[in-house]
Amino acid sequence: MNLTITDVRLTPILVADPPLLNTQGVHQPYTPRLIVEVETADGVTGVGETYGDTKYLELARPFAEKLKGRQVSDLNGLFTVADEVAVDDARVSGQVDVGGLRGVQTADKLRLSVVSGFEVACLDALGKALGLPVHALLGGKVRDAVEYSAYLFYKWADHPEGVASEKDDWGAAVDPAGVVAQARLFKERYGFTSFKLKGGVFPPDEEIAAVRALAEAFPGHPLRLDPNGAWSVETSLKVAKELGDVLEYLEDPALGTPAMAEVSAATGVPLATNMCVTTFAEIKEAFVKDAVQVVLSDHHYWGGLRNTQQLAAICRTFGVGVSMHSNTHLGISLAAMTHVASTVPDLHHACDSHYPWQSEDVLTSRLTFEDGRVTVLDAPGLGVELDREKLRVLHQRWLDDDGSLRERDDAAAMRVADPQWVTPTVPRW
Ligand SMILES: [Mg+2]
Repeated sequence: MNLTITDVRLTPILVADPPLLNTQGVHQPYTPRLIVEVETADGVTGVGETYGDTKYLELARPFAEKLKGRQVSDLNGLFTVADEVAVDDARVSGQVDVGGLRGVQTADKLRLSVVSGFEVACLDALGKALGLPVHALLGGKVRDAVEYSAYLFYKWADHPEGVASEKDDWGAAVDPAGVVAQARLFKERYGFTSFKLKGGVFPPDEEIAAVRALAEAFPGHPLRLDPNGAWSVETSLKVAKELGDVLEYLEDPALGTPAMAEVSAATGVPLATNMCVTTFAEIKEAFVKDAVQVVLSDHHYWGGLRNTQQLAAICRTFGVGVSMHSNTHLGISLAAMTHVASTVPDLHHACDSHYPWQSEDVLTSRLTFEDGRVTVLDAPGLGVELDREKLRVLHQRWLDDDGSLRERDDAAAMRVADPQWVTPTVPRW
């Protein structure tokens, strides 16, 4: 068996995205993703997926060159390669990332996001070469299916008029009735029983009313609200007080560890985050200050599936819960998320996934949710197959774009509808 990497292919694509609202603005009609393929000397191909904005591409290209000649089994070596790839630190240091929804952007975080795409591709190739599923390479699954939550969004029925976009059949959701209707559709189509609402869009009272309406429509079901740090400590505490009896957790109500610690100290409602704990370096302060009770992992920016397992082990050690964050992603990443989640012993919260919002994919068949769960695949590697024609079409869309959609920018997308829109300063309320 020859596990030497002989070829690496990077294919940036643009995938359709519905007009989902968040505190920064609205999703663009198409969003960039990067599909990674590694091929071994034996002709085995592994696939991975990560963010596709230009800054990731610029990093992935030299990374891909350095991979040739290495072994797909050399997963630790990926971090060495990452250290060798230069990043324009000045451009990214101290900046808040695209959308500003995943905490502070750093060169390290950018590098780890690129590593994750290659790590998943290497694991897929290794699994296929050995005839083992990825979860077996990670130590073996401890469950046969992984539970996901319905990811509810305030949304418009359509993208602004005159903008090229794909139609979706979810309709609008801009008030409590719309949110409940959307939740019912999620339940009907996928069987989800836990619901998360992306907040920070409307004044807190309106979002409190929406969660109250969900609680009435789905009594006893786990509910979460995530305003992406849009609230002050005072507002966060007000919301925690009003929704404390129905929330499973409140996600990033206020921005940053000190503010989260203040909220945490004054409420019994558990706080979750994918914004103030996004790297290993950020764990200590947050845990020492008891700022968060649940960390939402994301294998993309934590640096892969094995780093996700390490994060879960640290959380377990400190009695902090773990669940999973999601950004717009396709089936390759959902398969990867499901494999790693199946190996985490203490996963007591349903994971987030954007997948139901993505009508397009690059796989020969879509992954499916049954009773809100994805079955852990036991076929070799990730257990998914790339559809080259679909990949070609989505890549062509990327090639045809004038560059305006190649960087995800929710504020720019909002300015199409509202030219006066500026990214809100935080806290917004
Ligand atoms: Mg979040």
